[in-house]
Amino acid sequence: MPGNHRIVTLDGPAGVGKTTLAKQVAEALGMAYLDTGAMYRILGWKLGPDAATLPEPELEQRLAAFRFSLSGSGAHSVLSVNGEPVGQEIRTEEVGMLASIVGKLPAVRTALKTAQQAMGAATPLVAEGRDMGTVVFPAAPCKIFLDATPEERARRRFDQLAGMGHSPDLAELTTQIAQRDEQDRNRTIAPLRPAEDAIIIDTTTLDIDGVFQAIMAAVESCR
Ligand code: C5P
Repeated sequence: MPGNHRIVTLDGPAGVGKTTLAKQVAEALGMAYLDTGAMYRILGWKLGPDAATLPEPELEQRLAAFRFSLSGSGAHSVLSVNGEPVGQEIRTEEVGMLASIVGKLPAVRTALKTAQQAMGAATPLVAEGRDMGTVVFPAAPCKIFLDATPEERARRRFDQLAGMGHSPDLAELTTQIAQRDEQDRNRTIAPLRPAEDAIIIDTTTLDIDGVFQAIMAAVESCR
């Protein structure tokens, strides 16, 4: 595909804070942000784990019924599926696991990659996910990979879910996040890993503002 000169990629494991930061960075840069995890979550939620047992043509047919679009800019970017903005109902760890299960299927990855690249061709993007720098936008000049210890990521996810009115269990979250990472890192297609030319930021001891500053400095160095 042609050069992705208007794309900043932000990849990393579950709970590292990508969505919050992608929003802030997109706002600062005047670009839209694309939460590709939300795309996998929608498919996991709507198709369920049985998607893995569907015959390929049937799965492809069902995938064709999901039309993703992106509107707005910065913190006000809105991802929609079939004209409906994606809501908070996909933000549980259970839906995260369903996303990770359907994310192993080649037909799912192909369909979403095509949709993501189309959005990137239409709009300058901060694109966050697992394979933005490695597979979807390999020519992006600015690739960032965020990391943090599993314990710290579980704590961040705990705070996020509690803030949304859920009552998460920290020990259970830690196990779920570890399982999801293991699955994302070890899948055959588009596994979670930094691109060779990514700038890696260990965020374990940083607060959100510290990570934001580190990302902005990285973006400055690669634009
Ligand atoms: O980032 P988030 O936690 O919302 O992602 C949910 C799941 O979707 C991930 O655990 C991963 O399996 C899948 N995903 C992916 N590729 C992406 C984004 C998310 O495989 N680019």
